[in-house]
Amino acid sequence: MSETSRPRRPRQIAFYGKGGIGKSTTSQNIAAAWADKGRRLMVVGCDPKADCTSLLTGELFQETVLERVRSQSRNAEVGATLDGVVRTGYRGIACVESGGPEPGVGCAGRGVICAIELMEKKGYLNDDLDFVLYDVLGDVVCGGFAMPIREGKAEEIYLVTSGEMMSLYAANNIATGIVKFASSGRARLGGVICNCRNVAGEVDLVAAFAREIGSRLVGVLPRDNVVQESELAQQTVVEHAPESAQAQAYRVLARAIEGNRQLSVPQPLTWERLRELGMLSARGELGA
Ligand code: ADP
Ligand code: MG
Repeated sequence: MSETSRPRRPRQIAFYGKGGIGKSTTSQNIAAAWADKGRRLMVVGCDPKADCTSLLTGELFQETVLERVRSQSRNAEVGATLDGVVRTGYRGIACVESGGPEPGVGCAGRGVICAIELMEKKGYLNDDLDFVLYDVLGDVVCGGFAMPIREGKAEEIYLVTSGEMMSLYAANNIATGIVKFASSGRARLGGVICNCRNVAGEVDLVAAFAREIGSRLVGVLPRDNVVQESELAQQTVVEHAPESAQAQAYRVLARAIEGNRQLSVPQPLTWERLRELGMLSARGELGA
């Protein structure tokens, strides 16, 4: 069910995956690699933790769109402004955190859409950009986090996973979410990224998973301590250690995604098949 299409401008790309799997690290490093090549981009954090852009801005806590909207409506100001909420990060990358609802109140996904629509209205998501990257927490797609897919904001989705079963389950769930809204929206799967946790047979397992859902492995990122070192310096690896093999791995992935025209409606696996793949892999019986 592969489709080829000419990308529109800006390309709206989303990274989905289990919490802690490496979405923010990966998306910010790809963003930095593209910025080094002169691409213009915006990174939109769609995680209530609001930590999706800190390596690009060097700031740990930045005001989110939803915080701004809430404080302005309390002050009864007319028309929320996003000055200072959309920040300029590494090499001019526009960075913004959508934020989440107040704890226990409202739907986080709806908040994300509210934030995106406000940015559209204010002209931030315009044709001058080459890419808009959405970094979306996606453990549970049945929750509000399917919103960027459902509402047609994210068009090209990359699943970030390791060879650990929990992150493959999450990736498979997200694939199910993409199928659900594929007929009504534009969202398609662009590929699977293996962010290694050094599980035995990991790359073959993730590649087999990608194949079986009708997609492909678009990149492999080794596990490397330079990621932590860069994180402590509040920078991407691409900025902090540009000569490192890890920075090169992010650049290769950035190039692969930029050149990717293979978008598909995935065919998610049954839990049984996913478990079987995991067991075949653990027994070393998974043919590459
Ligand atoms: P997510 O955004 O999916 O919740 P993060 O990008 O915040 O995940 O990553 C979680 C942690 O894993 C971070 O501390 C990050 O430094 C670390 N990490 C991510 N990718 C790698 C990698 N390839 N090698 C080493 N550590 C990594
Ligand atoms: Mg994150």
